[in-house]
Amino acid sequence: MTESVDVLVIGGGITGLSAAFLLQRNGLRVQLLSAEPRVGGSIQTILERGFLCEAGATSVMPRGPEFLQLVDACGLRDQILLPSPRARTILLNRNGSLHPLPLDPLAFLRTTLFSRSAKFRLFREPFITRSSTDESVAEFFVRRFGQEIFDYGIEPLLPGTLAGQASRLSIRSTFPVLHALEQQHGSVTRGLLHGWLHGNTSRPRTYARGFTFERGMETVTNGLAAALGSTCLTGARATGVSVDRNHPVTSPYTVSYDQDGSHRQVNAEAVVLAIPAYAASDLVTTLSPSTADVLRSIPYASLMTISFGFQRSDVRHPLDGFGYFLSASERRHLLGCFWNSSQYRDRAPRDHVAISVFLGESNGLEIAKIPEDQAAELALSEISRTMQIQGKPVYLHSTRWARSIPQYEIGHERRMEQLRDFETEYPGIILAGSYRGGISVGARVAAAHRHTEIIIARLGRTRSMRQSSSPIQRSA
Ligand SMILES: Cc1cc2nc3c(=O)[nH]c(=O)nc-3n(C[C@H](O)[C@H](O)[C@H](O)COP(=O)(O)OP(=O)(O)OC[C@H]3O[C@@H](n4cnc5c(N)ncnc54)[C@H](O)[C@@H]3O)c2cc1C
Repeated sequence: MTESVDVLVIGGGITGLSAAFLLQRNGLRVQLLSAEPRVGGSIQTILERGFLCEAGATSVMPRGPEFLQLVDACGLRDQILLPSPRARTILLNRNGSLHPLPLDPLAFLRTTLFSRSAKFRLFREPFITRSSTDESVAEFFVRRFGQEIFDYGIEPLLPGTLAGQASRLSIRSTFPVLHALEQQHGSVTRGLLHGWLHGNTSRPRTYARGFTFERGMETVTNGLAAALGSTCLTGARATGVSVDRNHPVTSPYTVSYDQDGSHRQVNAEAVVLAIPAYAASDLVTTLSPSTADVLRSIPYASLMTISFGFQRSDVRHPLDGFGYFLSASERRHLLGCFWNSSQYRDRAPRDHVAISVFLGESNGLEIAKIPEDQAAELALSEISRTMQIQGKPVYLHSTRWARSIPQYEIGHERRMEQLRDFETEYPGIILAGSYRGGISVGARVAAAHRHTEIIIARLGRTRSMRQSSSPIQRSA
């Protein structure tokens, strides 16, 4: 017999787990399917030989109250780990040396990262008119802040955080807050000043620099999975979604999935697809081939993360800071380098340091093809020069992300409209992957809250319809 639930959530990453948890707390019957044997998706903590490294997300920067509410609901607040004060400095590489990213006006005036003319150029920003086109991130920043500030102060952060190319990413979709500041206040600077004067910040100051957990980021995804208990099925890959249009008010959707070599089905009134766009594309193709095409067209960047452990005495650099990012002119394969043991305590055994690097597809490097030991050699030779590393690593762990982070490229908003049309045609199906509403962990949890509210409202409506229609059915 096919099982029935109120809501079926597909995807065991932070989005799916948060949505399932919130729905279950609201009294709904939920089932979550996660294809992999583990939960967490892009959140994956590795704890080995005294080193704690993150294969995926390294920290969370909560946007609003939702993430902390979730942490509290799972009883994890006391496990939050704040970054050390020395990790405040983010370094950027220009002309072979590392410069701190200036984070306040005085530091900006003093920095040698930018020339004097580039600094003066910034004062023109409030007087530059707004644009009405779907500009690229590069066009937006160069137009507003000038080429040099973009090249050495902004562009280096994009491949290292979003794995993205500034000339292809859409400003409206990738940085909606900055785009809105320009549209509402005519200038980013004026908009920021306005927000600062009116105290518009929903992020508590304690967490303004982000945080992780004592035992790593997986604490939160494992905590959610534990709270879900048997609701959370791992090793269960969804293979298709079909609709029964004869029963629009009862459970209209049937999801097929494979688990332990068996093919199973479950009926649900609502289905949340909290999976990457290419995976969602396969599931909706029979319902709407055109939506499947839109989902398949969303590009994903390839990345490799490599974590190294060294004896402290083998690294001559003081590692005072968060880590560093490279400007395009100096970038070879490395997108960024994080000094994990400077950022957070207990990331390496005593007298050792933990360092992670991100490699991207550039200068002919193909992440999908390069053997992991070769990638590690490449990364090691790059960081050895910058950080004067003399010895061999005592610890090494690499993770290949063939399709890591969705790229909100120019035209993304148009694609999102097509996805909204699909959701109108199939009410109860929510396309909830990170290709929508922001890629950060904080944004994913905020999105899960929104999806939950939509589902609760919809199920409330269908139930009252069912109750009011039953007397008619009885009298028929
Ligand atoms: C290397 C890296 C570093 C990052 N660093 C940060 C950071 O420091 N801070 C930050 O805020 N964000 C960071 N991010 C981004 C953030 O981690 C992700 O955007 C976020 O975790 C995505 O969560 P998700 O649940 O939407 O998707 P995912 O984590 O991709 O989870 C998708 C889930 O769906 C499952 N799935 C797929 N297909 C099926 C199917 N057919 N049936 C059932 N299940 C299926 C998968 O098994 C997986 O469990 C990073 C991402 C990467 C890759």
